[in-house]
Amino acid sequence: MFRTFLKVNDRCPACAEDLSHHQADDAPAYFVILIVGHIVVPIVLAVETAYAPPYWVHFSLWPALTLILAIGLLQPIKGAIVGWQWAGRMHGFDDVPDNGGMGVRKAT
Ligand SMILES: [Zn+2]
Repeated sequence: MFRTFLKVNDRCPACAEDLSHHQADDAPAYFVILIVGHIVVPIVLAVETAYAPPYWVHFSLWPALTLILAIGLLQPIKGAIVGWQWAGRMHGFDDVPDNGGMGVRKAT
């Protein structure tokens, strides 16, 4: 569903579903920060508590782990958010134009 790393195709290449009106915005980055933080910070604290390694060990491990996890999770999480918007009929995935998302229909 992606034409580049984070650019979503206008149409699904498998079923031609119109994906042009997804609005993932910065939700993927938010969830990546949330998840990676909850993975890396406990590991950092556990390693520091158990082994108290010198700072160069910390500086060589955690930025690399954070970068690998963030880059590895960004595309699947963005795909999941676009899929969630599609499943919830949000942001133009509904047949009703401009209904505000989350299944809430604007008063007309
Ligand atoms: Zn499809």
